[in-house]
Amino acid sequence: MLVIWLIPLVIVLMLGYFSSRYHWWAKTVPYSVPRVLMYHMVREHLPGGKFNGLRVPPHQFEQQLQWLRKDGWTFFTLAEMQRRRSDLPEKSVALTFDDGYEDNLTNVLPLLEKYDAKATIYIVCDRHDRDWSVYKKKHHSSGELMREPKLSDTQIERLVASGRVEIASHTLTHLNLRDADEATAKEEIQASKQQLEKRFVITVNSFAYPFGIFTERDVALVQAAGYDNAVTTEQGCSDFSDPFRLARVKVSGKEGMFAFRLRMRLGRRN
Ligand SMILES: [Zn+2]
Repeated sequence: MLVIWLIPLVIVLMLGYFSSRYHWWAKTVPYSVPRVLMYHMVREHLPGGKFNGLRVPPHQFEQQLQWLRKDGWTFFTLAEMQRRRSDLPEKSVALTFDDGYEDNLTNVLPLLEKYDAKATIYIVCDRHDRDWSVYKKKHHSSGELMREPKLSDTQIERLVASGRVEIASHTLTHLNLRDADEATAKEEIQASKQQLEKRFVITVNSFAYPFGIFTERDVALVQAAGYDNAVTTEQGCSDFSDPFRLARVKVSGKEGMFAFRLRMRLGRRN
């Protein structure tokens, strides 16, 4: 008798769990609005790693590319998206990678080539032996992200040469812009663009706010420095009418294909 009552109870609880976790009922952002996906690393998880959400395992990343191809998505870099904002096809997607991890060359580029895809990588100029996780939260002092190998300049040259990767700026030192005075913020935003342009003989059009933290002052500085777009860590999608506060859809290394497909369809994360 008890079992008869338990079964519907379990079903109701499960439905409640899936609804709150995946928001499958939420309003879908139309496919005419591009999706900008946010990644950091593509590599296997570290046993016991605190930041495994930032590590998408390579087989999972490949599944995502395979699915995007099959489902009819077109890949753009952020600079291309900005240029073509008024005539983007339905189902336009940009893959973005923050910070400049070495696996972006070793694990990501071969898959971009295999699936004829593109990406934008936000490079921190002074990225080696720097523990920026503590700039956001002092207690994040495990050094876990600092120990992750970053791209060398030579490796970045290979990414540029591939023709599939847009190199973009993520400041000089991955500072917390909200805590910086205006002169420092200006230098970090402007000099990072100039350094990357000079070192790699490219034009840098795109910017990502470190930690997604910024003020109105920083938006003005990014514009004044000559960038034409900037991404945040705000969850969702933007139509590029305000190209300096672009939202992104976070891809977590802890979620499977079901969550990924749902986010692509909904255009937002939970
Ligand atoms: Zn970052």
